[in-house]
Amino acid sequence: MIEAKLVEELKGIAGDENVLTLPEELLCYSYDSTVLQHLPEVVVLPRTTEEVAAAVELANRERLAILPRGAGTNLAGGTIPIKGGIVLSLTRMIDILEIDDVNMVAVVQPGVVTGKLQSAVAKQGLYYPPDPASLKVTTIGGNVGMNAGGPHALKYGVTSDYVMGLEVVLPYGEVIRTGGKAIKNVTGYNLTQLFVGSEGTLGVITEIILRLIPQPETSGSVLAAFADLDEAATLVNRILHAGVTPAVIEIMDQMTIQTVDDYLQSGLPREAAALLLIQVDGVQAAVDQELGIVAQLCRDNKATMVDVAKTPEEEESVWKARRSISPSLTRVRPNKLGEDISVPRKAIPEVVRRIQEISSQRNLPIAIFGHISDGNLHPNILFDQTDPEEMERVEAASGDIFEVATSVGGTLSGEHGIGLLKQKYLSLDLPEGTVEVMRTIKKALDPHNIMNPGKIFPEA
Ligand SMILES: Cc1cc2nc3c(=O)[nH]c(=O)nc-3n(C[C@H](O)[C@H](O)[C@H](O)COP(=O)(O)OP(=O)(O)OC[C@H]3O[C@@H](n4cnc5c(N)ncnc54)[C@H](O)[C@@H]3O)c2cc1C
Repeated sequence: MIEAKLVEELKGIAGDENVLTLPEELLCYSYDSTVLQHLPEVVVLPRTTEEVAAAVELANRERLAILPRGAGTNLAGGTIPIKGGIVLSLTRMIDILEIDDVNMVAVVQPGVVTGKLQSAVAKQGLYYPPDPASLKVTTIGGNVGMNAGGPHALKYGVTSDYVMGLEVVLPYGEVIRTGGKAIKNVTGYNLTQLFVGSEGTLGVITEIILRLIPQPETSGSVLAAFADLDEAATLVNRILHAGVTPAVIEIMDQMTIQTVDDYLQSGLPREAAALLLIQVDGVQAAVDQELGIVAQLCRDNKATMVDVAKTPEEEESVWKARRSISPSLTRVRPNKLGEDISVPRKAIPEVVRRIQEISSQRNLPIAIFGHISDGNLHPNILFDQTDPEEMERVEAASGDIFEVATSVGGTLSGEHGIGLLKQKYLSLDLPEGTVEVMRTIKKALDPHNIMNPGKIFPEA
C-alpha cells in the first residue's frame, strides 16, 4: 500500500483531480486486452512533461514501480501493474502540437488517438499509415511503446518506420530528446529506435515526431477464394514479382471464413481453404491497372472466386468481413487469445497446417488469419477461462504455436510485443547473449528497475 504522504506529494505534482486511489478507479487500470489483471496502488494522469518527470523522479526515489499506459489495448499483458505501484496514464496529453506540411511531419503528445491523428493529417492531404485494427482507441504513445503494425505494413511499414524523434523522461526523471525533423540523421546511436517497442520499460515518451506521406488518391480491392492453401500462399509472391506492391494482403483460413459467415450471413465461400483480401492504392490509372493484374493472377493461381471492388461501397463490403473477425469469434467461445507470430512467407502453408494440427491435438478451436504478405499470422485460440483444465490446454497450445513459428525461422511476435504473456518463451526466439545485451541496456537506463518492471524479460 502506497504511503498517504506520497499520494499527497503526487497530488501536489499533478493536481488532486488527476490522482486516483479509490478501489473502483484503480480497477479500471488493473487490466489490458488480455485476461490478466493486477491492481495498481495509485493512478496519476499527468498533463505535462514536467508533471511526468516529477512523478517518475518520486517513483525512483521511493523505489516504486511506475508503468506508462495509453489506452490499455495491448494484447501482451504489457500494462498489467504486477508490482502494484503507480500507473501513469498518458491519456490527458492529447494535443497534436503541429502538422508541418512542408516537412511532412506531425509532432504529437503520447495520448493522441491514432485514428484522430490520421483524420487530422488527411484534412491536409497527408497520410499516417500505421493502422492497428484498434486505431480508433489506441494512443500513439502505446503504438510507439509496442511498435504497432497493421494490415498496411507490406507497402507502408510499421510504427517504427514513422518515428523520427522523441522526447523521453528517463527512469530517474531526466528529460532527453532524440532525433528530429531531419530526414537523414546518423549522429550518434539511434536512441529513437531504442525506445520504439521498448514496452514502457526504458522511459516515458512524452512527445513524438512522426513522418507523414501524401494521401493515396484512391484504392480498389480484390476478394479471392482458394480451395488449396498453397495456391493462396504462392499468389502473394506472384503478385510481388509482377511488380505490384499491394497496400494490404490479408488471409482468412476456413474456420475464420465460416465463423465470420455465421456472424454476417453474407454468403462468404464457406468451403474455401483460404480467402485473400487484397487492396491496391495510388493514383487512379495505377489502381485500375494493378487491380487487373491482381485479379488475373488470382485466376491463374486457381482461385475459385474472384470479386473486384472498385467503388468505396464495394470495398466496404469486402473489408467488412475482415473487420468482423474479432466480434464473430467471441460468439464461438467466451475468451480468445490472439497470438501474433511472424514467419518467413515461404513457410506460411506449413505453419497454418501445423497450427490446424495443434487445434485437433489440443481439442481447441483455433482461427487463423492475419497479414499474409508479411508473414504475420494471428492464430486465435478460443476457450472458456472459467475451465482450469481448458486453460492448461490453451497454455500448451500457445507453447506449441511458438515452437512451430521459431522452428521455421519466425518470431514470437510481429506486432503485439512480449509483455508478460510471451516472456517465458523468449529463449526460443533470442540467443542468451542477445537477451543479456537487452538486460544490460535496461540496467544502465533503469538501475532500480522501476519502469514497468517484470515485463519482457523473465525474472531470475
Ligand atoms: C481489437 C484489437 C485489435 C488490435 N489490433 C492490432 C493490430 O492490428 N496491430 C497491432 O500492432 N496491435 C493491435 N492490437 C494491440 C494494441 O492495440 C496495440 O499494441 C497498441 O499499440 C496499444 O496501444 P495503447 O494505447 O492501447 O497502449 P497500451 O496498451 O496502454 O500500452 C502498450 C505498451 O506501451 C507502453 N506505453 C504506453 N504509453 C507509453 C508512453 N507514453 N511511453 C512509454 N511507453 C508507453 C506501455 O507501458 C505498454 O507496454 C489490437 C488490440 C485489440 C484489442
